[in-house]
Order: sequence, then structure tokens, then C-alpha cells
Amino acid sequence: MRVIVIGGAGYIGSHVAQELLDRGHAVTVFDNLYSSAREYVPSGAAFVHGTIMQSEELTEAIDGHDAIVHLAALKAAGDSMHVPERYASANISGTINVINAARRTGTDRLVFSSSAAVYGEPQYLPIDEQHPTDPSNFYGYTKLQIEGLMEWYSRLGDLRYAALRYFNAAGYDPSGRVRGLEYKPANLLPVIMEVAAGMRDELSIFGTDYDTPDGTGVRDYIHVSDLALAHALAIEYLEQHNRNLVVNLGSESGLSVRELLDTARKITGKAIPAREVERRAGDPGRLVASSQLARRELSWEPQYSDVQTLVQTSWDAYRR
Ligand code: UDP
Repeated sequence: MRVIVIGGAGYIGSHVAQELLDRGHAVTVFDNLYSSAREYVPSGAAFVHGTIMQSEELTEAIDGHDAIVHLAALKAAGDSMHVPERYASANISGTINVINAARRTGTDRLVFSSSAAVYGEPQYLPIDEQHPTDPSNFYGYTKLQIEGLMEWYSRLGDLRYAALRYFNAAGYDPSGRVRGLEYKPANLLPVIMEVAAGMRDELSIFGTDYDTPDGTGVRDYIHVSDLALAHALAIEYLEQHNRNLVVNLGSESGLSVRELLDTARKITGKAIPAREVERRAGDPGRLVASSQLARRELSWEPQYSDVQTLVQTSWDAYRR
């Protein structure tokens, strides 16, 4: 199939583009290179430098493709609470441009990068897709709004979509082909890697008094190559079934900040200084996915999401 990956030069997008190429699809990457670089686009993919804020160039780029993977977004949850206008524009208005362009060009298969942030504070664990959606930050709200828009467009036309609710994406391509390091990362594992690589002084551990086994926050880390595979399977699913799909993508196991840090110290052989600080506002103690639906509907099986592989593949990327 001819697939356009919007945001395909970014961290997750470049892994998705690589996976699609590996599976024999013709891939176009569309990206504004705001937080990435031209050389992070996998070789073999065509590249269009453009922005989703410009409807005309976006429509022109999408035209002629069979499916869209849309990952272009702002994603720092903390930031979204301070500058909601930027998140509303880039995420909501930007995606309206994408789905309008999809409608105009008759490109009616769309895979969208949603987030576990749509759920907010967990009411039970593991979180399945029936869990109430009540985002606790504006970022999560933008993702939920977009899911709602896609649902309506799907009712009113030919659009078929898959909303993939990522838990915590981490790790790097085990084959070492995808090389783009994240620009100013705020997520735990890349921050740990930057400390290990000497790019920053220390890690702040946000809270040690959570109701978790070691007191630090527990998350469901899913390897980015496992995520990438799910996108490819979702495109194939939309091709074969005339229905939409809303699924969690997680490993279904929880790792604490300390567990990741200890593993990183062992694998890198670096001291990785860490300081215990206050909780970060809006951070729940524990988030773990149920991904049974994705496993069942997509025959998806995460392969790389154990703590060793998450940390080792990240360190391989940072060491390079
Ligand atoms: N965290 C931390 N220090 C950091 C970044 C994150 O202790 O510099 C913790 C955070 O409180 C959470 C976990 O690591 O418990 C994962 O946070 P991240 O920002 O990577 O993802 P989130 O779950 O917030 O989307």
C-alpha cells in the first residue's frame, strides 16, 4: 500500500515508517522537522517537508495514498497545561486539517496516535478500553477530542480509523537503523539516558511516596518497535475490516522509576546521579494497560518490551 506517515521523522514516526518499509509498503514521510531532522527519515521513504497547519500543501501531499498514519502532535502533558492554545492548534486544528484532507482526497484509512492520557486518573487497573475517559491534562483532552472527531467523520462518510492509545513509548530500533534522538526529552528513559551519556547532570525522581512497592511511579513501558508493528497491523486491519478500532497499546506490566534507573545503571555501567524531589503535578502513581483487545484484534504480540531490551536498545542509540 501507499502510506503517508505524518510526523514520520519523529521518534515514534520514524520507527513506524521503518516498519512499513520493512513490510513492503511504499512510504511517504510528511514532517515539519520541528523536533526532528531530515536524516532521521528512514532511507527508502519519500520525504515532504510541510506542516499540517497548511491545508493546501497537506491535501496535495496526502493525495494518491491509500492510508494515513497521523502522529504529528505536541506531546508534553505538563506543557499543555501552560500553553493550551498551542496544543489546541497543533493537535486539534492540525488533525481537523488532516481528516478534511483525507475526506477531500478520498483517502479513507487513518491510523491515529492517541494516548493513555485520555483516561486520566485510573479508577481500576489494568486499564482497558471500557475505562471511563476523563483526561487530567489538556494534552489528553486534545487526543480525546480527536477520537470524537474521527468517530463523527466515520459516521458521516467513508473514513475508517484506528485510534491507538499508547502507554509509555520507550526504547529504540533493535537493529540500530533508526537513529533520531529525541529533542529536549522530558520522559523518564531518555532523561536517564541523557544523564548516563553526560548530556545532563542528574535525574529528578518525581515522588517516592506513592502507593507502589518502592514508592516511585509505576508505568507500562512499551517498546517503540512493538508500537510500530501495531501501526502496520492496524493499517492491514482497516484494509480487511469495515470497522473502526480503538485499542490500548501497552506491555501489560508495570515498571517503577527505580527499577528502570537500577537497570540503566547496570547496563550502562554509569553512576547516573539521581535526586528525590516532589511529585510532579498530575502524575498518577500507577498506570498499567490491558492490551487484550489489540492482541486479539490485531494478533499483536509485543516482543521487545522487557526492561532489559528497553534500556539496552536506548543505550545503544545514545552511545552512538
Ligand atoms: N519521571 C521522573 N523523572 C523524570 C521524568 C519522569 O521521576 O525526569 C517519572 C514520572 O513521575 C512517572 C514516570 O517517570 O512516574 C514516567 O514519566 P514520563 O514523563 O516518562 O511519562 P508519563 O507517564 O508522565 O506520560
